[in-house]
Amino acid sequence: MSSCCAARRHLEDAEAVRQGASLLPIAVVGGGPVGLAAAAHLLERGLEPIVLEAGPTVSTAALAWGHVRMFSSWRYNLDRAARSLLERHGWTAPGAEEFPSGRELVGRYLEPLAALPELAGRLRLGTRVTGIARLGAGKLRDAGREAQPFELRFEDSEGRQGRILARAVIVASGSWGNPSPAGSSGLPAMGEREAADRIRYGMPDILGADHGRYGRRRTLVVGSGHSAIGTLLDLGELARRVPGTAVFWAARSADLTRAYGGGAADQLPERGALGQRLRRLVETGAVELLAPFSVDEIRRGNGGSLTVRSIEGRAVEVDELVVATGLRPELGILREARLDLDPALECPRMLAPLIDPNLHSCGTVRPHGAEALAQPDAGLFMAGMASYGRAPTFLLATGYEQVRSIAALLAGDVEAARRVELDLPQTGVCNSERRLPGAGAGPSCCTPATPEGGNREPGPAEDLPCCGSAARRDMAQLGPVG
Ligand SMILES: Cc1cc2nc3c(=O)[nH]c(=O)nc-3n(C[C@H](O)[C@H](O)[C@H](O)COP(=O)(O)OP(=O)(O)OC[C@H]3O[C@@H](n4cnc5c(N)ncnc54)[C@H](O)[C@@H]3O)c2cc1C
Repeated sequence: MSSCCAARRHLEDAEAVRQGASLLPIAVVGGGPVGLAAAAHLLERGLEPIVLEAGPTVSTAALAWGHVRMFSSWRYNLDRAARSLLERHGWTAPGAEEFPSGRELVGRYLEPLAALPELAGRLRLGTRVTGIARLGAGKLRDAGREAQPFELRFEDSEGRQGRILARAVIVASGSWGNPSPAGSSGLPAMGEREAADRIRYGMPDILGADHGRYGRRRTLVVGSGHSAIGTLLDLGELARRVPGTAVFWAARSADLTRAYGGGAADQLPERGALGQRLRRLVETGAVELLAPFSVDEIRRGNGGSLTVRSIEGRAVEVDELVVATGLRPELGILREARLDLDPALECPRMLAPLIDPNLHSCGTVRPHGAEALAQPDAGLFMAGMASYGRAPTFLLATGYEQVRSIAALLAGDVEAARRVELDLPQTGVCNSERRLPGAGAGPSCCTPATPEGGNREPGPAEDLPCCGSAARRDMAQLGPVG
């Protein structure tokens, strides 16, 4: 940009500030299901959203796992405000009890939503946000900080830089693009980077586009969340179809109750069924379970194969590795904003006790809204998968409730922002705890830990039992997706 253009742009920005932040739009970072739902709720409230999506289409993250069948049905996958906007244009919702794939979620719901005249002009595709700050107020500056609008820097698909100003920001950028490594300490395993050509992160399309890569090969899947389970099931099916295909499963804990899930007790039956199918594959030997197996080192063997060693002293030789150890939020774009995040989960601090998998082994999460998601830089909110940091238990329905509440707060309707409007299924799954081997009895999800490490009685704000049939109707019951 020439200096003359830059100066003019600066003057325009300054003018926008003078006109008052209220004239500026509310920026939504990420055009996934939650970002688009946020836009629908803002529009319903008479507010002006602008959605910035890094990918060339909406919801590029869900398209990346497009081959995966979701474990929640359309009943839980549609946002109310988005749905009513769509229905005003003659759209018909898919059957409430059908289970879409990721691709169908995008094709049947999110793409039609993004194409509506109300949204199309407010959506910028191919626009990756690279930084969020207060205009002219570095992170250290207190004076007048809250009067300053947010400045969002972005890069378009041709590498051009730009910026927009916003009166508020909802960060709904997910975490799909930021997978955790195989190494059990959270750092890449020794040799993991060098073995990159034999490693896939997330959920490869094993029965579709990627089947040639895994057929007649030995594959080790690392992880025990929803993505690992789905990958193991697909590999088990590939092994049935293609002789010579071998499947190994590295789970950090020998207690697999949580991975196998609630079975028939799970009120998201698809999710319950997945765990039970995996249990059968292990029991019949179609999947060889290595547990406990905490990946420490990956070394090349003969012909490019990989020898994977664990901290427990075991080793396995395989041709391919699929790493499904969870996701992390990309916090780099928030470096210049004031944040208050939990040091372990990297989610908003207030949210952490509600979603911490160390405490909530059953994945039970109390509904929560704008207050729990707001950051110290007033007007900045985390939402959707990004708001869960490293916790693996996010559900779309929870995200839709989050953005309903945030839009209400931004519209000044504090009462509606505080109200809980969430109705999710319950499960009886509450049967294992995540803790380091040998750490002794830890807190259960029903008796949250004190900072000192002991158990304490639930306080007034958390008097909701999370286990068994007493769980309240308005509590979200979630399953791991990492
Ligand atoms: C395999 C899998 C299966 C799942 N199944 C279910 C299920 O059955 N039911 C359920 O309720 N939940 C499920 N989930 C969990 C969750 O609901 C989904 O991950 C959901 O897509 C999260 O929505 P989101 O909008 O928060 O984030 P995402 O869907 O991740 O969308 C974020 C968007 O932000 C964009 N973006 C990222 N960074 C930037 C940036 N810097 N600037 C601009 N844009 C950016 C991305 O391109 C993406 O389009 C599943 C998750 C996975 C991974």
